[in-house]
Formats: sequence, C-alpha cells, structure tokens
Amino acid sequence: MIDLRSDTVTRPSQSMLAAMATAELGDDVLGDDPTVLRLQAAVAERAGKEAGLFFPSGTQSNLAALIAHCARGDEYICGQAAHTYKYEGGGAAVLGSIQPQPIENALDGSLPLDKITAAIKPIDDHFARTRLLALENTIGGKVLLAGYVDEAVQLARQHGLSAHLDGARVCNAAVASGRPVSALCAPFDSVSICFSKGLGAPVGSVLVGSKALLESAHRWRKVLGGGMRQAGVLAAACLYALEHNIERLAEDHENAAHLAAGLAQIDQVKVQSHATNMVFVQLPQQDCVPLQAWLKERGILVTMLYTSRFVTHKDVSRADIDTFVAAVKGYFAR
Ligand SMILES: *Cc1c(COP(=O)(O)O)cnc(C)c1O
Repeated sequence: MIDLRSDTVTRPSQSMLAAMATAELGDDVLGDDPTVLRLQAAVAERAGKEAGLFFPSGTQSNLAALIAHCARGDEYICGQAAHTYKYEGGGAAVLGSIQPQPIENALDGSLPLDKITAAIKPIDDHFARTRLLALENTIGGKVLLAGYVDEAVQLARQHGLSAHLDGARVCNAAVASGRPVSALCAPFDSVSICFSKGLGAPVGSVLVGSKALLESAHRWRKVLGGGMRQAGVLAAACLYALEHNIERLAEDHENAAHLAAGLAQIDQVKVQSHATNMVFVQLPQQDCVPLQAWLKERGILVTMLYTSRFVTHKDVSRADIDTFVAAVKGYFAR
C-alpha cells in the first residue's frame, strides 16, 4: 500500500529495530533507564534546552507542559487550529482545569499580535489568569516566520506570560527553513517534539525546557499515566531517529513539492502546498468519497474526511508519488 494519510504511518526500519533490540534498559520510573536518559540529554542538547523528558505521545507531552505552566483556573492562548486545542480532546480543560483562549489563526498559521494582546486579560477576579502563549511549528505544514515568532514571544513576555511550542514537527520546520532546531526552539520556555511522525519512530515525544519546569512535568507525567518502565526500548528508536532521520526530511519535502506539481496539472484539483511534507487540496465535494475508494482499489490510502491532505514520509518514494498522481489523473479522465 502507498499510505499518504499521515507521516505517523511510518514503520520502524530494520536498523531502527536493531537499535531497539540491543538497547540497554532500566526502570525509567525509578530514573535509571540509561537509554531514556541518553535520549533526553541528546534532544535537550539539540534543542538548546537544559533538560528533556520522554513521553509516550505528543498529546501527553503537550498536556503535561500546559499543566506545568498553568495552575487550575489559569488560561492559555492558542490558535483555533492548534493541535492542543482542536485535536487533543480538550485535555487542558478536561484534565488540567486550564481554560483555553483560542484565537483565529491567520492564513500563514500565525496568531496576529493585536489579537493576542486583546485576548490577554487584566488581573481581576472576574477573569481567568492568562499565563501562557502556545504556538505550533509547523502548523498545517507551514513554517512560522522567525521574525513573527520572536515578536509574539516578546509580546507574551511583556505581559508576564510563558511560551510553549507544540513542535511536533519542529524538525520539518528546521530542515525546510535551513535553520538549526535550537534556533527554532530558542524563544520558548518549553517545546514538545514528536518522534513518531516524519522522524519514523513507532512511539515517543520529548518535552524540553528548564530543569525546574520539567520537574513539574515529570510529576504530571506520572499522574497522567505516562511513567513507563523499560522505556529504553522505545527511546532507542527515537535516538536512532535523532541521529539518522532528521536531514532526510528534505526528501519528504521534495516529494511533497513533486506531488503538488503533479496534482496541479489536473483542472478539477486546487492545490495548496507549503514548504514541508503536506499538500492540501480542494476538489469537487462529490468526488471526495469516490476518489478515495478509487485510490484504495489501487493500493493507495488517503483521508478526505475532514481535510484533503496528502502527507509524504520516509515510507513513500518518488515512484509512489508518480503512481498516486497517475491514479488521480486516471480518476478524473475516466
Ligand atoms: C501529532 C501531533 C501531536 C501529538 O500527537 P500524538 O499522536 O499524541 O503523538 C501534537 N501536535 C501536533 C501538531 C501534532 O501533529
């Protein structure tokens, strides 16, 4: 099958599995799994932060970070399109007693500075206490402009807020913009980085930030059920990804551009592509379900339910992209 549903579908390679099989293990809840410790230190170094903490998922890593930043009755500012707000089951509110204050994302994924300013509440018993600004990079496959991020975080700091980055795909953003991961993380107090997306590990995210913040996140990780025992078997996959799979994201970005160029030749398809591994399309509503079925019959998996988005990753080749584009052309030519 050619699977373009998400970059989460990647399978661990033979060499990644070998690294997992030979990983040195301990009990990470007791703090002595050497492979987890090695991963946390390596990611912290790469991100330019003091410390790292390994999580089973990005959802849990983001949530533990939000709870570490905000107390009960505090609020955090984020985008309407933010993963933490829209795609994590409302966890901040449900489990953290944190009120989200979403604001409309601009077309480039940013949160307009005037809207951030307007959303920050004065200190007054009527209001939740605004504590945190949370951005996301990449967002919808788009890389946030560096100048914008600096300004937004500076604005947050002027109002005494902390800053969190949902950097699930920050490595894609780094590769696409030719900047080091540490530069993209630098403005923020905490960053959550996923290894189970384009980096190709089966499981795992790492939260980076200051030691003090991560001490609090460590407690909340336990409360949220994220304390794992011989977790080094998973951390080894993430370490492998950190060492071998970051630079290769450029291939995924090239394949996405190639995919976009192919689909752009089809009259019925409107294509929007960004600098990374996601291509968004609009096509006639009545074609969505039949096209998905047509592609499935030809061994190609896509989702066109809530968004028509095609995602490239290490398990789709240039030839697969050509097969996919030909199949879409075949559908519209039938
Ligand atoms: C995937 C993702 C997460 C975390 O998702 P998990 O499936 O819980 O690992 C968080 N934020 C963004 C932007 C993501 O794409």
